[in-house]
Amino acid sequence: MLEAKDEVFQVLRDAIAEKREELDDERRIWSKENWAFETCFNNRPTEFSRQGVLKTFRLMERAEKCNGLEREIKKIEAAVKEYFIEEIPQRVKMTELLVDDARDTPCEEVAQQFGVKLKRSGRQLSGCCPLHQENTPSFFIDPTKNVWYCMGCHKGGDSIKLVEELRQCNFVDAVKYLTT
Ligand SMILES: [Zn+2]
Repeated sequence: MLEAKDEVFQVLRDAIAEKREELDDERRIWSKENWAFETCFNNRPTEFSRQGVLKTFRLMERAEKCNGLEREIKKIEAAVKEYFIEEIPQRVKMTELLVDDARDTPCEEVAQQFGVKLKRSGRQLSGCCPLHQENTPSFFIDPTKNVWYCMGCHKGGDSIKLVEELRQCNFVDAVKYLTT
């Protein structure tokens, strides 16, 4: 969905660039004609006749065209702005979903990936802590709450925290690790 929106955004940006070029061209013609007209008018004021009136109309038309183009550009720019207002919360929402996804990874799955042998003890799972050296298990996982705790090194948390500790990485990298 985001890719499709990025495409729309690209189309809008291209449209703005195109309109700006058109506007620049119009302005160039307009100033050139205006200059020619003024020169002619200043040099021969008595000849400001039918031809002069027509020329004035053409210049007015050009000015109107420039205004029209400016209005069009403003409209497209407003659309781009709206796109961003809509777009950003969507990206935030996606990030939240990604974090939820990562957090839903069972802690036992993560621990096993890092070589922890787990045994069931009541409602919990236990094993030797992968974060400190030990021979008697003090690493516990509560699968119903999907949290872990070590009685030896007093560390604990969710599956993201477990990856942070095991890989010595930050939160973002842990989420990436769990979702890719
Ligand atoms: Zn420990």
